[in-house]
Amino acid sequence: MPDVFADLVGQDEAVDTLRRAAASAAAVLRAAHLPAPAVAAAADPEYDELDALADDDPAPATDGPADDPGAGMTHAWIFTGPPGSGRSVAARAFAAALQCVHGTGCGTCPGCHTTLTGTHADVRLVAPEGLSIGVGEMRALVLRAASTPSGGRWQVVIIEDADRLTEAAGNALLKAVEEPPPRTVFLLCAPSTHPDDVSVTIRSRCRVVPLRQPSAAAVAEMLVRRDGIAPDVAQWVAAAAQGHVGRARRLAGDPEARGRRDAVLAVPRRLTGVGTALDAASALIGAAEAEAEAAVAETDAAERAALQTALGAGGTGRGAAGATRGSAGQLKDLEKRQKSRATRAQRDALDRALVDLAGFYRDALTSALRAPVAPVHTDTAALAEAGGQKWAPEGALRRLEAVLACRAAIEANVKPRIAVEAMMLSLWRG
Ligand SMILES: [Zn+2]
Repeated sequence: MPDVFADLVGQDEAVDTLRRAAASAAAVLRAAHLPAPAVAAAADPEYDELDALADDDPAPATDGPADDPGAGMTHAWIFTGPPGSGRSVAARAFAAALQCVHGTGCGTCPGCHTTLTGTHADVRLVAPEGLSIGVGEMRALVLRAASTPSGGRWQVVIIEDADRLTEAAGNALLKAVEEPPPRTVFLLCAPSTHPDDVSVTIRSRCRVVPLRQPSAAAVAEMLVRRDGIAPDVAQWVAAAAQGHVGRARRLAGDPEARGRRDAVLAVPRRLTGVGTALDAASALIGAAEAEAEAAVAETDAAERAALQTALGAGGTGRGAAGATRGSAGQLKDLEKRQKSRATRAQRDALDRALVDLAGFYRDALTSALRAPVAPVHTDTAALAEAGGQKWAPEGALRRLEAVLACRAAIEANVKPRIAVEAMMLSLWRG
């Protein structure tokens, strides 16, 4: 019977840690539900099982991180790993196990089910739509997280992309993590525990669950088992996605995603001069913009329509005109949020393209070195091999480095068009 951890591909160690923690959390709850000890109850008429729980908690967050892998439950966790390794999948699965009525993450009980479908009343998810998570959002969340869990188990707060917290939001979160309400659990997801991603003070209060990049074989196995994808398709998309589970699934099921990848992988053979290099840069940026626009268009329109309905747009009665004037600010806010989200979507789309391109030059390099490793892109392996022969290992490496430098530059806020043009010129010159 597959439980809530079944989709965490190739993460045996992390799953082991989380299972133990969930069992320990369930034991904490069972202890709290036992009749209060007669002495305590007699001595203190205000005796509260939550206080008893706080006393019994095997690893209260005030003790700092529990580095002993045998230690049980704690109040704050950070899931780290490369994109696509399943950070948020792991956080959700753990949340489900905490809410599971059997305490194991059985995958079928109402606690598991509602958590996984995102409707559990005591599980809140923060996912930044734009480039950062603001302080207002974080304060509201921390406040609600302090309330008693309605389901009688845990209040769980999942923060996806905790590396995108603004400084002020990080401080609001830190306060909550430092003095956690007894039944509140914070689950943070971030690429790493580097201070650029998570502040040292927050990190010091959290237990870290590192996730690794799953092997192509593990990803392929899951695509076959869970999504019913044909084994040969599963194998090539798993390799092409370079350990990114979501990307592999999209390549298998979405012809447009495959088309975009084909276009990216056609770039290396089209670079015949300065003009074609600049054209290729334009095409890459344009494709990322179009992909991002398609990704956010539906949500944007729905949000705009909902806000206009809420503000009574289209009303003709007295006061409708005044309401419309007053609502201009709210519309402006919404547009700002949507613009930030669109920028993020564009960067994500561009980054996926760059990762594909890096895979091609990596294949050229390994082929030039005659390294006994499987290619990332099986469908362009012959082309990469020809490139490797022509460029020699040094030339292939220079090109791979040009792609990686472009990603780093965009991450450091260089204008994408400038970074991509510089990369294309380097790829052409070699
Ligand atoms: Zn369950």
